[in-house]
Formats: sequence, C-alpha cells, structure tokens
Amino acid sequence: MSDGSASESVSARALQVLQTVFGYPAFRGQQAEVIELVAGGGDALVLMPTGAGKSLCYQIPSLVREGVGVVISPLIALMQDQVDALAELGVRAAFLNSTQTWDETVDIERRVKRGELDLLYIAPERLVTPRCLELLGQTRLALFAIDEAHCVSQWGHDFRPEYIRLSVLHEQFPQVPRIALTATADHATRREIAMRLQLESARQFVSSFDRPNIRYRIVEKANARKQLLDFIRAEQEGNAGIVYCLSRRKVDETAAFLNESGVRALAYHAGMAAPERAKAQSRFLREDGIVMGATIAFGMGIDKPDVRFVAHLDLPKSLEGYYQETGRAGRDGEPSEAWMAYGLQDVVQQRRMIEESEADANYKRIQGAKLDAMLGLCETANCRRVQMLQYFGEASSPCGNCDNCQVPPVSYEATVDVQKLLSTIYRVDQRFGAGHVLDVLRGHVTEKVKQWRHEQLSTFGVGADRSEAEWRAILRQVVAMGLVAVDYDAFSTLKLTDIAKPVLRGQQPVSLRRYEKPVKQKRVSTKRAKEEVDLGSGQQSMLVLLRQWRTERARALSVPPYVIFHDATLREIVRLQPSSLADLREVAGVGEKKLETYGAEILRLVADAQQMAD
Ligand code: ADP
Ligand code: ZN
Repeated sequence: MSDGSASESVSARALQVLQTVFGYPAFRGQQAEVIELVAGGGDALVLMPTGAGKSLCYQIPSLVREGVGVVISPLIALMQDQVDALAELGVRAAFLNSTQTWDETVDIERRVKRGELDLLYIAPERLVTPRCLELLGQTRLALFAIDEAHCVSQWGHDFRPEYIRLSVLHEQFPQVPRIALTATADHATRREIAMRLQLESARQFVSSFDRPNIRYRIVEKANARKQLLDFIRAEQEGNAGIVYCLSRRKVDETAAFLNESGVRALAYHAGMAAPERAKAQSRFLREDGIVMGATIAFGMGIDKPDVRFVAHLDLPKSLEGYYQETGRAGRDGEPSEAWMAYGLQDVVQQRRMIEESEADANYKRIQGAKLDAMLGLCETANCRRVQMLQYFGEASSPCGNCDNCQVPPVSYEATVDVQKLLSTIYRVDQRFGAGHVLDVLRGHVTEKVKQWRHEQLSTFGVGADRSEAEWRAILRQVVAMGLVAVDYDAFSTLKLTDIAKPVLRGQQPVSLRRYEKPVKQKRVSTKRAKEEVDLGSGQQSMLVLLRQWRTERARALSVPPYVIFHDATLREIVRLQPSSLADLREVAGVGEKKLETYGAEILRLVADAQQMAD
C-alpha cells in the first residue's frame, strides 16, 4: 500500500484499515496514538497488558506504510496460526523459521524480494543470520516490530540470548521505524528493554496493567484437587482453562484426576517429549473446552483468546509470575477467573526452595522479597487488584471484582492468639512441628504429649477455644509474616524469629484475617448457563449451529476456531440476526474479506435457525 503525507491522512487510513480489514469499529486505548506514530515513521515502546490489542499496533502500520512489516517473535509454534489468521483477513503474511524446508524458505524469500508481503514473522535467531540481514537489506521495509520484548531482559524468566543481538536492527537499518511490545509490568524489565534495544529515545506508551475482566480469588487450601473440581463443576463446566502446578508429577496427577472426574484435561510440562507437548498445545488451541494441567513451561504466547480460567494449585514464586500466568485468562475481554488454593505448605515449600537453591545471597534476598509480596497478596484483607497494581506502581481503588471486595474478610485484633501460639512454640523448646504444637495448644493428651510431659506446660490447652483449622490459618499467617520460621528438617520444626520477640512481649499488636470455613461452591452462573439466560432458546440453538459450522470450517482449514470468528462475534451475530450483508458488516470482527468468504453462509445459517425456531 502507498505512503501518505499528512498525519491526518495517516490516521484516517489507519481507521479505514481497522474497519475494513479487521472489522472493528474503533481503536481501543492508546492504539490510535501508537499507530499514528509508527505509521508516520516514529519509534515506540509499547507496554500494554495481555489482551489490550498490541498486534494491531504493528499490523496496521505495516499495512499503511509501504514495504513489508517485519515482526520478530520467539513464538515459533504460533507463527503458523498468526499467518493463517491474517490470511483469513486477506492480509498477505508469511513467516521464516526453523520449521520450514529449504524450498519453502526460498519461496518466501522470493516473495519478500518481490514486495508481495505485508507482514513477515521471523524468529530472532533467524533474523540475525547474514543471509536474512542481506535479504532485508534488499527489501523495502515498513517497520520492525519486536514482540515479547521482555525476552531481552536477563532477569526475566523468558530471556532469549538472540534478543540481545537485535540491536543490529537499529545499526543496520536506522531509517526503519521500530516498535517493541511487551505485557511485562515491572519497571526494571522496562528499563532494560529500552536500554538493550537502543530505544531510549522511543516514545513510551504505558497502559494501565489492570485486567478488569479477570476476577481474582484465593481460597484456603484444604483438599486442593477436590476444591478445584468443585470450582470447575460449579462455575466452569465445559470451559477452557489452565491449571498451574509446581511439579511435573503433580501436573500429570491433576490431569488424570480431572479426566477420571469427567473433565477433559491434558498435561503439559518440560518432562514430555517435544512432539507430545506440541500436540497437547495444539489440541488445547483447536478443541473447545479443554483444561490444561501445566507447569510454568506452558506459558508465553498462548494466544487462545477464550481461556476462561487460570487456576493455581501451588503458589507462584512472585507477583510478576502470578500476574503473567493469570493474565492468560480472558484475552477476549469476557469475564474470566483467576482462582488459587493456598495453604501453609506453600509458604514452607517456597521458602525452602529459595533457601536450598545454589544462588548467591543477594539473589536469595531478592527472591525472598518477591515471595513476601506474593504472600502479601494471599493474606491481604483488602482489594487484591489494588494490592497487585500497587506492586507494579499503579494506584487504583477497590475493584468490586475480587473475592475480598465481594465478600470482605473480617480482620481482627489477634495479638493474644498469636502470643498463645508463639509461647507454645517457645515452651516446647522450638523442637516440634505444627502437629504437636497445635496438640499442646489445644490441650490434646497424645502419646507424644505424655512422653514429653507437655501437659504440664503453662500453655497446655490455652487454645482449646479454637478449632485445629483456625489455628492452622493463624499459623500460616504468622509464618507468612515471618514471625515463625519452619525448619527444613524432616519434622518441619517451628522456630521463633527475632521479630517474634516484640509480639511476645506485647510491644507489637498483630491483626489477622479471620478464618472462613471453606463453603462448598454452589452451582452459580456458569458461563454457558449465563448465555442461556441472556439468549432465548431459539437464539441458543442458532449459536450452537454457528459454533458447529465454525468447527467444521476450522477443521477443513486446520486452524483454531477463533481464527474463523471469535465467540464474541458469533454471539453478536445471534443478537443482531442479520438478514443482509450490510447488516452483517456491522458486526464487530467481520471485515471485508470474511464478509466475502463467509457472509452468504452465515446469512443462510441465520435464516435456517430462524425457520427452525418458528
Ligand atoms: P495482545 O497481543 O495485547 O495480548 P491481541 O493483539 O491479541 O492482544 O488482541 C486481543 C484481542 O482484542 C484480539 O482478539 C483482537 O482481535 C481484539 N482487538 C484488538 N484491538 C481491537 C479493537 N480496536 N476493537 C476490537 N477488538 C480488538
Ligand atoms: Zn477488589
């Protein structure tokens, strides 16, 4: 497409491309500003949360500017889907990566040279080869987009050494505009991106990192698997979701358990062979309603827009990790859940992992601080979203869409309870684990109590007024606060720390979150059920018909169903009941190419469904 002169016409053309190619009526958030800058030849660093619509920020300038837009992405497995999705929109796109044969590579290079492409996706290790740089040198380039730009950061967990070498772009192609994009929220990584990619003078676009459609919920862990199953059955039946666990074994066990319980589940972790992993990922993307049990190896670039929930059975190591993992829910902006079961064992396990790691003291200190922030989120009685955004440097007010906002926990003056617990630990000489300490505290005469004559201690039975579960919740909180340390021996011996002293002496009051008995979740508004309420039965069967049609179409093209149309688009079709192509054009997500390819079929399906309903 040709180059425009005035910036006014640049933004007018960008809007036109948005509407005709992508079928969306208006830009969101800062998209328009970013696109205007980059389409006009400027550099940008774009920090937006997952689902905000970063792709359009480089796709539209690539279409508006002359030449091919080069997108650097580490997500080789996704390139095919991305290119297929663009082809469905009538955009000429291709990719270069290691999955291709020599002939395919040569063919694509030829198309690049002839100027036949609007967008070219390249893996970073490929881009920095002399052959590729030479190819780009002979080609008219619209822009460079550096996706997942946080991969350049050595401190992040997605570090890719090839990303460091991307500074070559600025050196060899100084006149080509660059746009770097990431959904990473922490400031240290942002600074590193700007520095390493030589984007210090690029304009920065920082969006709010809030994901308002995600509801955050953290429950006390009792029987985590069972709690998970209850949660899925009550609220997520038939929906796609991800369940994160710490270990490979637990992933396998959880997936097996869900399958036995009638929930379709798969496993994904680094212990599986690469083809097996790829197959699991592809099924998750292509089939409806699969739950993926996974370690954090399953992560970056799960581009599935309709993941309805992300569950954690183990505590993430940091808020950065928690934010990133939960962020995989609800890219499409529809209501989604971030659900986590959390207990004392999580605190002990994570502290132990830091302590036992081979890293140096400074690294351990940083990891310890990150864990404390994560624990702070679990234990807070205030809005979870406010606390999380604050950690990323963003001020906000209570959200109304987290468990603490919806059912505010009661915090209470717990100094006396905490003192009872701490002095019991002290009186058993800091030589016993939680089980025995709580027996003494609650006045249980066990064999062990008799053996050690602990029934004679002054604290024996002073905690008889509270249940074991209540005391465990108190213990968990004081461990999370660092008043009590859990030894890394086989008995998980409880010991007091220095900061416990002022509490014991009554110089430091403590307030805690009151223990809530886990209530069995009732079958509340599942998403499917909600649809049924929103839509009449005739509309419901129209939606079913459209979904079936989409599944067939997707299978024939071997692409994920959302590449044909998103759920939200199908639902809007059902609501509007279009009877002409002009009506259909009004639906968000229906651009010119899709109108041409599928318009007639959709109208026929809608008419058929209407007839059946009559
Ligand atoms: P990100 O890369 O930031 O996670 P995507 O680029 O994948 O987000 O976009 C998320 C979803 O939002 C996609 O389904 C996309 O089609 C949709 N989207 C993006 N911009 C708009 C817009 N202006 N209007 C409507 N939908 C949009
Ligand atoms: Zn809240």
